[in-house]
Amino acid sequence: MTTSDMFVGVDIGNTKLAVGLLDRQGVIQTSARRPTSVDSGASSVVETLLAMTGEVIGERGNRVAGVGIGFGGLVNIHNGIAVSSPNFPGWSNVPLTAIFSERFRVPTAMDNDANASALGERWVGAARGMDNFVYMTISTGIGGAFVLDGRLLRGQSGYAGEVGHMIVDPDGPPCRCGKQGCLEAMASGTALVQFAREAVEDGVPTRLGEMAHNETGRITGELLHRAALEGDGFARQVFARCGRYLGIGIANIISVLDPSLIILGGGVMKAGAFFLQAVEEFVARKALREGQLAPRIVPAGCGDLVGVVGAAAVALATVARSADASE
Ligand SMILES: [Zn+2]
Repeated sequence: MTTSDMFVGVDIGNTKLAVGLLDRQGVIQTSARRPTSVDSGASSVVETLLAMTGEVIGERGNRVAGVGIGFGGLVNIHNGIAVSSPNFPGWSNVPLTAIFSERFRVPTAMDNDANASALGERWVGAARGMDNFVYMTISTGIGGAFVLDGRLLRGQSGYAGEVGHMIVDPDGPPCRCGKQGCLEAMASGTALVQFAREAVEDGVPTRLGEMAHNETGRITGELLHRAALEGDGFARQVFARCGRYLGIGIANIISVLDPSLIILGGGVMKAGAFFLQAVEEFVARKALREGQLAPRIVPAGCGDLVGVVGAAAVALATVARSADASE
């Protein structure tokens, strides 16, 4: 008899789709990546994901113990439905779990991508063996997940952990959620670029305008990072400002939830050298706990494929739970 000792992780992000086959130790055996064509609609994305999953499984179908899916939007974990997402217009109540379990005939579970990533970090990343930590992802938006007393915090509707929509400046710019001054509107990659573009249009002294060939629309997160690396004072200020707002959010989280670790992931962390110090300074001054008791703030340990590892961790957790229940 062959042992079912492998897990598939399916990561549905707004810019890329990634699928991986992992062993029980969380090591990726094989993986596939494609850009997400958000505009082509749910059914075409689902077909692509099924094909990618078939590719990574290959001849090892009888060794797969479960499939886990991480979705960048609202997920009903009880019935495995991707409810909706601001990143996937037109997606409404897609029964992903049922589609995958029918196709591959293995237990399948889904969670939102931030919760999945937190489970991945706990499995093989920066939070190995930890029962109290916060995972935050800073990319085009800001998402998060809390593991407290060993369990993912879910809340009444299952939407707990939306750290991006904590208000850090009541007079701040509008957020895509309809409120204003949310952390995401101040410190996400999108917010940084928006802030920089407006400042350049207002004539702030910086090389960014020149680097963007005087088209502010060409200012991107990468360009901002490059300007900071080249010593541009304004670009560095943009990141320091981002660090300050992240610091406000993180200080509040620490005071309320008493975690022992804060993990920061997401694409904006590539520029972490320009804002992590500001985060730490703010947290050290403002969080309720100080000195020895202050939680560490660390970069994510799973790297670029955290979404895939996390999704596989969702499958692992589900298979482990059903094994417990049948004992
Ligand atoms: Zn918001």
